[in-house]
Amino acid sequence: MKLLVKKFGGTSVGDKERILNVARRCAADWQAGNNIVMVLSAMGKQTDVLIDLAHQINPDPPKRELDMLLTTGEQTSVALMSMAFAGMGIPSVSLNAFQVSMHTTRVYGNARLKRIDTDRIEHEIESRKIVIVTGFQGVNKYDDYTTLGRGGSDTTAVALAAALHADSCEIFTDVDGVYTADPRIVKGARKMKEISYDEMLDLATLGAGVLHNRSVELAKKYNVPLIVRSSLNESEGTVIKEVAKVEGMLVSGVAADKNTTRISVLGLEDRPGVAFKLFDLISKKNINVDMILQSIGRDGTKDISFTVGSDDGQTAIDAIRENLKSLHAKDVSFNENVSKISVVGAGMMSSPGVAAKMFECLYNSGININMISTSEIRVTVLIDRDDTDRAMQAAHDAFGLED
Ligand code: ASP
Ligand code: MG
Repeated sequence: MKLLVKKFGGTSVGDKERILNVARRCAADWQAGNNIVMVLSAMGKQTDVLIDLAHQINPDPPKRELDMLLTTGEQTSVALMSMAFAGMGIPSVSLNAFQVSMHTTRVYGNARLKRIDTDRIEHEIESRKIVIVTGFQGVNKYDDYTTLGRGGSDTTAVALAAALHADSCEIFTDVDGVYTADPRIVKGARKMKEISYDEMLDLATLGAGVLHNRSVELAKKYNVPLIVRSSLNESEGTVIKEVAKVEGMLVSGVAADKNTTRISVLGLEDRPGVAFKLFDLISKKNINVDMILQSIGRDGTKDISFTVGSDDGQTAIDAIRENLKSLHAKDVSFNENVSKISVVGAGMMSSPGVAAKMFECLYNSGININMISTSEIRVTVLIDRDDTDRAMQAAHDAFGLED
């Protein structure tokens, strides 16, 4: 008897028909003798609808109350799913984060899971019920609801699979796997059979919307085999695991991230401690910094440019403006009209020339590079946002990823 964790995203439970369809599909696995734990997202775009409603009432809603509101989305879908099973005569129970006890850190809107009590779920499984758990939510030490950040249901599913030592963790979505690039944008994009945790982590972090990046981090840490597949058809999907077949490819995939803003701090004094002061200020605002570029000092001053997520852009700029004096900086400028394009592949670890090839293909397409950052398995460039789609196609073609 296997324990299968199955997560269904918003589209997969978007309406009555789809909920019933998912229930039938899981019922078949249950009838075959498996134990099933399901994790659901809110129906369709319900989370967006709720966020929009909140902002109509108050443009800056208290974060605690926003989480209180958003958790209702997932609670709706799990209750409906359990009703679907009841209608089929199959025993099931829906549980929210409180009922399970999914403990998270304090922060509202972007909490991290700390611990999951598995007693209740195990008890329900033992009585052969299908257990249906709300994704995306947790409870903090004040007994308040928290949420795990947009797309966080994937992380709930992986965390549950790890805590329950499940045999597999399937992420059902509206695409049938992980592609070499977004197939809606890039001609010739191809579904991958498998990909390593590290590559998937970079792709997820750098804009491939298919998985929440923290879910991949967790899956790697606890060695949970992850499968991304479609809820609408039976096709095989993509397996994410420790070591994937590299298939002789330098690059496995291309990702684009438009959710980025470039900030440049100009005329900083060129002496020790300046970068520390600047990034300390940013981190105290709880803002993640991504690419960083520091110019060579000239005439006793230097410039530092960096990127942050678009949502954090204004907060970061305001903080720097207010502190220009104490930072010993002359000015700050920013550009919101930028994108990050990344090529990712474990194969590049042992092969030189990937960066050069990337720059060459962008040059051939007349695309200018604003910033560059690299890791062992990734090359990322910052470019004008208008060039995003062209750059993706160019990189995808240059690295021979097409069918
Ligand atoms: N419903 C949440 C969202 O839309 C969580 C999720 O779908 O994973 O972000
Ligand atoms: Mg998602």
